[in-house]
Amino acid sequence: MRQRLAVGNWKMHGNLPENWALLDKVAAAAGGLSRAIASVCVPFPYLAQAQSVLAGSKVAWGGQNVSQHPKGAFTGEVSAGMLREFGCRHVIVGHSERRQLFGEDDATVALKAGAVLAEGMVPIICVGETLAERERGVTEEVVGRQLGVVADRLGAEGLKASILAYEPVWAIGTGKTATPEQAQAVHAYLRGALARCDKSIAASMPILYGGSVKAANAAELFGMQDVDGGLIGGASLVAEEFLAICQAADG
Ligand code: PEP
Repeated sequence: MRQRLAVGNWKMHGNLPENWALLDKVAAAAGGLSRAIASVCVPFPYLAQAQSVLAGSKVAWGGQNVSQHPKGAFTGEVSAGMLREFGCRHVIVGHSERRQLFGEDDATVALKAGAVLAEGMVPIICVGETLAERERGVTEEVVGRQLGVVADRLGAEGLKASILAYEPVWAIGTGKTATPEQAQAVHAYLRGALARCDKSIAASMPILYGGSVKAANAAELFGMQDVDGGLIGGASLVAEEFLAICQAADG
């Protein structure tokens, strides 16, 4: 049976007092989850806080980005080794905001995923098409290319230890969720593409859906055959919403 997950992406939100309250509530309630893993990817300065509140709880934590370099003169960057020191389990790579706003290309995303794996953590590799690409009918081509570059770089060993997230760009932070059928179609395509590389990896790799997931639509999305949970932005900042989404992932 595949791992089920609900991963919060706080983006550049939060402050110390609000984080305490949110993390405390999530840690307390996540004890009731039986099979789903809850995780929160927080801004770098809050990793120590997440570690201190969540250590010993059922909730994992992680980063939202990472340098592809292990160390050196890269002002402002944070290495995978540094994230590991703060107990991160997951690191998001290739989020569409990184691709669109910070110019990250497929090759850089692949290097970042490799850097995360090299430190024994799990990259959550994001792929997804823009609205214009969907309207041009090239969704599969786009996500296939994004996945292909990473797969070539990581090989079967690396892929086996990774998580994929399908995040249609037009659904992120817009309130416009993909229908369960739209999500399932792309997840099935991705799983098929993985199967051409390695059947057992395709069968075991969690593929998360991200894009305006809320408590109200999570169960329907996560009920689809190839949707193994979610990557959640806005709704992960509200404890009750995030916890309801975690419960939906728990099934
Ligand atoms: C995200 O940040 O990856 C995301 C999916 O955001 P939202 O849930 O707010 O659409």
